[in-house]
Amino acid sequence: MGRAFVYVILGGGVAAGYAALEFTRKGVSPGELCIISEEPVAPYERPALSKGFLLPESPARLPSFHTCVGANEERLTPKWYKEHGIELVLGTRVKSVDVRRKKLLTATGETISYKILLIATGARALKLEEFGVDGSEAENVCYLRDLADANGLVNVMQSCSSGNAVVIGGGYIGMECAASLAINKINVTLVFPEVHCMARLFTPKIANYYEEYYQAKGVKFVKGTVLTSFEFDSSGKVMAVNLRDGSQLPADLVVVGIGIRPNTSLFEGQLTLEKGGIKVNGKMQTSNDSVYAVGDVAAFPVKLFGETRRLEHVDSARKSAKHAVAAIMEPKKSGEFDYLPFFYSRVFGLSWQFYGDNVGEAVHFGDYLSGTFGAYWISKGHLVGSFLEGGTKEEYEAIAKATSLKPPVEDLAELGQQGLNFALTISKKPQPALPIDVSHSTSGLVLEKPMYAWYAAAGVVLAASIAGFAYWYGRRRRRW
Ligand code: FAD
Repeated sequence: MGRAFVYVILGGGVAAGYAALEFTRKGVSPGELCIISEEPVAPYERPALSKGFLLPESPARLPSFHTCVGANEERLTPKWYKEHGIELVLGTRVKSVDVRRKKLLTATGETISYKILLIATGARALKLEEFGVDGSEAENVCYLRDLADANGLVNVMQSCSSGNAVVIGGGYIGMECAASLAINKINVTLVFPEVHCMARLFTPKIANYYEEYYQAKGVKFVKGTVLTSFEFDSSGKVMAVNLRDGSQLPADLVVVGIGIRPNTSLFEGQLTLEKGGIKVNGKMQTSNDSVYAVGDVAAFPVKLFGETRRLEHVDSARKSAKHAVAAIMEPKKSGEFDYLPFFYSRVFGLSWQFYGDNVGEAVHFGDYLSGTFGAYWISKGHLVGSFLEGGTKEEYEAIAKATSLKPPVEDLAELGQQGLNFALTISKKPQPALPIDVSHSTSGLVLEKPMYAWYAAAGVVLAASIAGFAYWYGRRRRRW
């Protein structure tokens, strides 16, 4: 015996929350939709966990960052789901799925059937054991993927005030955690095998800026080496880490951010997989007509790149979820997902955004001393990617729009000299229609919708002032 729903969302993270909101907007009826999640809480804005959640003063706590505040939409509390007749099956792991029979089996033994399944299982943090290092279960070794991890990290952090933390991994989890730990007055050493931080995105020049900034805040960098083993005390707590270069670092706390693996295992052998994720078409539909996939787990066609990609970023989770629901509820009206990849990070007083793809030649611009600088990536004579640190709302919107238009670039030196003016000029040229939705939001209190000249009207001016205030406020108060 079990329950039956028209629509089931498997997973209760960012994409699930945005999908639920879109389902209600598209007229789902009470009782038709169910969300099943292993987490014990309703969907929330996961990026908050490495930012506002770890702050020593007025840290962000639920219910303040339930989805969909990150896109300045409604905050979907458990009450909201109840009022909309959406069944939240929380704290429940799905242990198998039969896509042919359209049934899920939960770890509690319940069978739930569906007509349409939306897979939003996201990803899990890679464990040290997968790289041959034992010790992840020690109480002062932390990962950061979900609320339980974040609570664990806060507890360990509070118990080692002024102590030593070793952060393993120089990607965005490592960088954001290192900053939060330093803000909590913990001595931080960041260890990673690459030659500079954020190696998948930053150029050496950009990375150098952030590394110097971090060093000025007391963070140390140990590059070009990896963790090989831990030293434990008699209670089983880690007290030091051993590195491949032969050195040893004392550690009261270890944070591991070494990448993620999409949660595809329930569907292996049942759906087509690609790029480590579940392959979908431009409607986010998998190789089975009744099954859609969104967020970190989905590999979808990115028109701008002309290839299938799997992205691990919050904006992509939000927008792919919205698109899938539109395709499910209004199949005739909805087109192909046309997405401009976007991601961002916020650490200390810094804030950057990146749009597009970082392939081809990087052209740097801006003033590193003033804190506003960036880079364009040019491939096959066209702008394909843009990075900006310390920009204004207008400047971020300009690089987003310019990147989505892929303008031709002939003279790289000239582009470097023009810097932001290049994007500002391109973005002000009237376009018949935006090829891609380039509206992006990066904070629960930030409204970052595009506001181009031709939208100008008195109401928009007022909205812009409010949004400007929210942006300013959001950057200072809540850093998610
Ligand atoms: P998730 O949000 O991970 O949700 C997946 C859900 O599925 C989880 O609730 C999980 O428990 C559930 N689930 C999985 N398997 C099962 C199962 N078998 N049964 C039941 N439930 C299941 N991106 C940015 O662009 N900028 C940032 O600054 C940024 N910061 C981040 C900070 C942190 C700490 C983390 C962890 C991520 C950050 N991200 C950031 C990435 C962003 O949060 C993800 O891209 C986004 O959460 C993906 O959404 P999703 O819904 O696909 O997956």
